[in-house]
Amino acid sequence: MLKHKIITLFFISVIMLLALLSFFVAIGVGYFIMVILLWFAVVFLGSSFISSNYHVDAYCNNPLEKEKKIALTFDDGPNEITLLILDELKKYNVKATFFCIGINIEKHPEILKRIINEDHIIGNHTYSHSHFFDFYRKNRVLEEIGKTDLLIKEISGKKVQFFRPPYGVTNPSIRSALEVTKHKVIGWNIRSLDGILKNEKFIFARIKKRIIPGGVVLLHNTSLHSVKVLEQLMMYLEENEYKVVSTEELLNIKAYEK
Ligand SMILES: [Zn+2]
Repeated sequence: MLKHKIITLFFISVIMLLALLSFFVAIGVGYFIMVILLWFAVVFLGSSFISSNYHVDAYCNNPLEKEKKIALTFDDGPNEITLLILDELKKYNVKATFFCIGINIEKHPEILKRIINEDHIIGNHTYSHSHFFDFYRKNRVLEEIGKTDLLIKEISGKKVQFFRPPYGVTNPSIRSALEVTKHKVIGWNIRSLDGILKNEKFIFARIKKRIIPGGVVLLHNTSLHSVKVLEQLMMYLEENEYKVVSTEELLNIKAYEK
């Protein structure tokens, strides 16, 4: 949890050491710039990859799982595509986790109800999913998480515990906000890139290559090709005797507050 602080302190120490040394030997300004750029690179990578646990501790998979069990997660719903995903999951009697956006819940409360009625898990995926979310200060992040929590509570009566930051990007504001809300951050270790790529074959091949016991798959509710990928994935998992379990079961944590 302190990774960011430790890394930053380390880089500050290096800069101070260089400054001190420069009293005795000539040190070019290039060295200072290099250290600062290196710090930027570490912060950038740590913030971009949720599994780095750089700003927050995230549950991205269960590394101790030996059996062929994996969990499926779907971001950015609820919307019309969610209905097709639910139909597909029902065929296989499989339970997944849906990380929902507040504004979409306001548009489709009945779809959120269906997700819950079919025993899938709901997680918080912010209210607006804004492109500027990562520039929000702590209070704005708290507002975003709070509004979506409230919407889900009003519809389902459940107080969600799972949160997934947009794009898996984290920063000190998100970390401070989560210290207040106490949500558990759920990441992934099998990223399909279905939000960026369009080629179903390529997306499916990408997932297939990464499937391991204890894995958490990230898919989206945003386009039809994700549904087609899901169809192939469900067949593949069945053929290979993989069991799809809920994130609660796989990660051994509770999705709702009692
Ligand atoms: Zn998202």
